[in-house]
Amino acid sequence: MGGDPCIACGACCAFYRVDFHRLDLDSAPGGFVPARLAMPLTENLVRLRGTDDFPPRCVALEGEVGREVRCAIYPLRPGPCRELEPGSEACNRARRRHGLPEL
Ligand code: SF4
Ligand code: SF4
Repeated sequence: MGGDPCIACGACCAFYRVDFHRLDLDSAPGGFVPARLAMPLTENLVRLRGTDDFPPRCVALEGEVGREVRCAIYPLRPGPCRELEPGSEACNRARRRHGLPEL
């Protein structure tokens, strides 16, 4: 999530797996993503907890999808969350899955 429409959405945070390099965790020098919110995936990759649950939902997501949400670690969220642009195909796929209109 990353823009104005996101505060009433959160669909991507409850749809996609969020994987990133373990060096981005705050347990590594220069890393910033809270390590307690991630689990090991491969030698180099970690995954935000909850994003591969069924149904998926990132543990950092607060509120109700499609109504009012907040990312509890917004300034510290990992790269994939920053790269997902509101209105992109990936955004709209997640919104459709949650019964929300496309942007
Ligand atoms: S699905 Fe789109 S609008 Fe919704 S939170 Fe993610 S980026 Fe924002
Ligand atoms: S860290 Fe924040 S922006 Fe990223 S998936 Fe979780 S709730 Fe969404």
